[in-house]
Amino acid sequence: MSQEKLQQVIDKGLCTRCGTCVGLSNGKITFEDKTGVYLPVIHTPLTDAEASRIWNGCSAKEVNWPELTKFCFPENRRVHPYLGVYRELNIGFATDFSVRRSAGSAGVITATLFYLLDTGQIDGAVVLGMDEKAPWQNKPFIATTREEILQSAQSKYTISSNNEILPEMERFPGRLAYVGLPCQVHSIRKLQAVNDPAVRNIVYIIAPYCGLNLHFSSVNSFLRAHGASDYTKITRLKFREGEWPGHMRVEMSDGRVMELKKFFANYLIPFHIMKRCWYCIDGSNEFADISVGDAWAPVYEERGKGFSIVVSRSEKGTKLLHKMKADGVIDLIPQTEAQAVKMHSHMFDNKKRGAFIRIARKRVHPEYHLPEPENIGFGRRVFESILQLIYALLRTRLMTWMVDKLPSEWVGRTFDRFKVFWKKRTYNIKRDKL
Ligand SMILES: Cc1cc2nc3c(=O)[nH]c(=O)nc-3n(C[C@H](O)[C@H](O)[C@H](O)COP(=O)(O)OP(=O)(O)OC[C@H]3O[C@@H](n4cnc5c(N)ncnc54)[C@H](O)[C@@H]3O)c2cc1C
Repeated sequence: MSQEKLQQVIDKGLCTRCGTCVGLSNGKITFEDKTGVYLPVIHTPLTDAEASRIWNGCSAKEVNWPELTKFCFPENRRVHPYLGVYRELNIGFATDFSVRRSAGSAGVITATLFYLLDTGQIDGAVVLGMDEKAPWQNKPFIATTREEILQSAQSKYTISSNNEILPEMERFPGRLAYVGLPCQVHSIRKLQAVNDPAVRNIVYIIAPYCGLNLHFSSVNSFLRAHGASDYTKITRLKFREGEWPGHMRVEMSDGRVMELKKFFANYLIPFHIMKRCWYCIDGSNEFADISVGDAWAPVYEERGKGFSIVVSRSEKGTKLLHKMKADGVIDLIPQTEAQAVKMHSHMFDNKKRGAFIRIARKRVHPEYHLPEPENIGFGRRVFESILQLIYALLRTRLMTWMVDKLPSEWVGRTFDRFKVFWKKRTYNIKRDKL
């Protein structure tokens, strides 16, 4: 029965690729070509025990938000409609500039993992690095040294499957911190709720915000736009290289380097977004102990260097941040709720209203056990229809073919200008009742 449900999740496009099924399947499920469609394939029938264990941790079809909230934050008093449960909101950054510079936004995640390791609170951290043998592909692993943690710094904007290594986490002889995207964290928390042994070593979840993720085709498209075609010639791939917000940078075996500002590289989003992300309602990683996102506000963007919004949710996460600040590892500047929401208002609108509209329009969809928010007006629904139409047009073969023929710098700059215009024009619709 559960195996049928898993197959349905895959067939109906609900799979988040979090890797839980692969990790818990005893080798019976693997991912098909990660540079292609990237779907799990069930090769051998699962036993009932295997299938129900996987189903317990699968975040694709069902995440019972109210129950998981109670489980993760039993002491909680209030759930914020956009930010989830939180205790403190801060702008933060690593005080060690080399960490801050090497990281995705401000190095808070990396600095926190360093601190936990240095102070003996963990023995390892589940992180995502790049595969040494296939440097175009990301790869989850357990980092046990500062060097390994640093290797994993920076955001990887292609599909990742951190929970593939659940068996390693289960065997790991010590305490672990876990870093993962919201869909991956949902699975981890679901498994913790049923006391699954694979997650019993995890003592902290320190996790990034996530608006969406992209298929590997985005990297291929980037290469084609630069006149290259063979991704196996990539020797180094970074999505947030250099000064915040950073550059997408690809180095090839023949010495070629292709680089594009992060904001310009966002042009790849409409063409390569993983469709499942449209139905995800969690942008700020609501079940982590500490969540970290970019501080998208002009006052910080102007300064460069790297600033993050840091949301502490659990008591232990909050205490940890205080201790790190007292020990001079990170700096924290308190923020109001309004500031934290404004910084990501487009994402919150997309996750907390757009996703609910899309869910209501999809026959087989993820279940979150939450009512549709009341603040979705007629204008917002019409806007959603227009948005989906634009995305559908952009995803046609003709458009994807055309965009690969144009210089990425030009497409990126044009996309960025359009985005600024679009944000201004839709500001009122998106803010209305938010
Ligand atoms: C796919 C994706 C989408 C994101 N979308 C947004 C957004 O819309 N808005 C926003 O404000 N922030 C977003 N972020 C978060 C942002 O890019 C930074 O990761 C975050 O601010 C933490 O920065 P940092 O400098 O503290 O992290 P770092 O110190 O650089 O550490 C990053 C950690 O994240 C892990 N990691 C990186 N990529 C992945 C991945 N694909 N899957 C699982 N783990 C990963 C690494 O293992 C590393 O430990 C996104 C991140 C990712 C990976």
